[in-house]
Amino acid sequence: MDTVVHSQVLDRLQKHGVKPSAHRMAILGYMMQHYNHPCVDEIFAALVPHYPTLSKTTVYNTLQLLEQQGAIIEVDIDKKNTHYDADNVPHAHFMCHQCGRVFDFEIKEKNTIFAKKKAGFVIVEQQVYYKGYCKDCNAAKDN
Ligand SMILES: [Zn+2]
Ligand SMILES: [Zn+2]
Repeated sequence: MDTVVHSQVLDRLQKHGVKPSAHRMAILGYMMQHYNHPCVDEIFAALVPHYPTLSKTTVYNTLQLLEQQGAIIEVDIDKKNTHYDADNVPHAHFMCHQCGRVFDFEIKEKNTIFAKKKAGFVIVEQQVYYKGYCKDCNAAKDN
């Protein structure tokens, strides 16, 4: 991990009240360099060669902690796998039925129900998602 990323990861952990540890740094560091919505298995497979004592349980528990503290978000788009996202600015997600990849979509505030605040309601989380076929899979289907 280069020093810029290292200090950004440390900053984010501290900002969200998470005590830094080697594994937490590595997991959040991976997240902050991979904005493709990885799952536990992907993160574990990428990190275990560098951190032989890492377990899948540690990866899972760390992601849960980071999510609870607001450092990352959990993307509930896929029934089989939970995807995680280090981009915690509200945005929508699109999952491809064919390749299973999860893409970022912009939220056009005025087009969503979230623009209309209901009196007495407090929103603490929002999940906006679309499913279909991505550009690559859609192009392959037409051929
Ligand atoms: Zn696709
Ligand atoms: Zn995202």
